[in-house]
Amino acid sequence: MSDTIKYLLPEERIPKAWYNIAADLPKPLAPVLHPGTGQPIGPDDLAPLFPMALIGQEVSTEREIEIPEPVRDVYKLWRPSPLYRARRLEKALDTPAKIYYKYEGVSPSGSHKPNTAVAQAFYNKEEGTKRLSTETGAGQWGSSLAFAGSLFGLPVEVYMVKISYNQKPYRRALMEAYGARCVASPSDETESGRAILAEHPDSNGSLGIAISEAVEVAAKNDDTKYSLGSVLNHVLMHQTVIGIEALEQMEMAGDQPDIIIGCAGGGSNFAGLTFPFIGRQLRQGGNMRIIAVEPAACPTLTMGTFAYDFGDTAHLTPLVKMHTLGSTFVPDGIHAGGLRYHGMSPIVSHLLELGLIEASAQHQTGCFEAGIKFARNEGIIPAPESTHAVKQAIDEALKCKAEGVGKTILFNLSGHGHFDMQAYTDYFAGKLEDHAHNQADLDKALSQLPGVAAE
Ligand SMILES: *Cc1c(COP(=O)(O)O)cnc(C)c1O
Repeated sequence: MSDTIKYLLPEERIPKAWYNIAADLPKPLAPVLHPGTGQPIGPDDLAPLFPMALIGQEVSTEREIEIPEPVRDVYKLWRPSPLYRARRLEKALDTPAKIYYKYEGVSPSGSHKPNTAVAQAFYNKEEGTKRLSTETGAGQWGSSLAFAGSLFGLPVEVYMVKISYNQKPYRRALMEAYGARCVASPSDETESGRAILAEHPDSNGSLGIAISEAVEVAAKNDDTKYSLGSVLNHVLMHQTVIGIEALEQMEMAGDQPDIIIGCAGGGSNFAGLTFPFIGRQLRQGGNMRIIAVEPAACPTLTMGTFAYDFGDTAHLTPLVKMHTLGSTFVPDGIHAGGLRYHGMSPIVSHLLELGLIEASAQHQTGCFEAGIKFARNEGIIPAPESTHAVKQAIDEALKCKAEGVGKTILFNLSGHGHFDMQAYTDYFAGKLEDHAHNQADLDKALSQLPGVAAE
């Protein structure tokens, strides 16, 4: 028997439907509000930005939504993704816990993000969209949408957060290799970008600013639609292929998780792995602990307020009720660029409010240390974002050791770090600091919340 066991499903077992957790929520989500009127928005309000099929999925309460055959065909390029038992890591930690991880780094762009990028490109193509605009933080989403756009013949424009544009030139090259155009944000190509540059000429950018630019381009051009890589209900739903496969793979392994862990930026990979398990727990009972892990420098779930807020900095998006640090909050330039967002998916926020999940914040140096421990035992270099899940899994395994209990831990390894080696270089050079969030900045950003009545 090999030390590391891979639980692989045959290709035919790629899920035929996504799972929609809205069908099983004990309390419905708060409505999305129009930024001008404060009234719940309808499909027509979103039509300039998204194709109707995705708007329908955004508000659907059907438990299962069929995955179109052309999307499943593309999924076959890398799905089903493997589930591994991390036996060498268990041994290194000398823990009685069993540690499993689902590995999403096997996709063409190296993360979970193509699971939704391919679906979004497909529906846009079907409805006649001629061009997609989007934002990207670390470059994972931009390269995933660029890949998906190339398969369906859709040009993609990517507004990339400036600090990442400078730190991650190879991500940019990857987007260009797939045929996308990549612009450093804030840019002088949009009103939102120019407004930021006028006030802060040296702005490092943020996801909130880049979203404003990409939304503006879609709103002003009839043939262009906007695509978002996280946060929205339909995006989280597309990611549930991860958890649906994992449910079956855990059965193959003859185990059931006691603890499930995912890192959380906007919440999509966390949702993708955990929602099918949470749904089963809501329908059939159970006492699994589900933990979302975020960076201490951008502690949306653990320090943010649950309130209506804008998704972007220029306040072009609808108002959604979520955990937020305030749309004007710009986190420090930590290396996990994909986790530097001021908000959190409304569904993940809602689940935390209902006590159905937990949240934890981790500092970056501890995360890199955990990522390196993982690499030296399991071989895979985790993306900086994914190291947050690795760190939490190791913490939980060490807790099991201290308590002498052998729990089963499952975490999502959302991507590999091959394009993020500069971050590891900086870590080895002792250049990474643990930024706590800046409380004064946070208080200021929260004082600027739009102030819509909570319910
Ligand atoms: C984008 C990204 C994340 C964070 O986004 P979520 O929507 O919270 O999943 C995490 N890990 C990797 C590898 C990413 O690319």
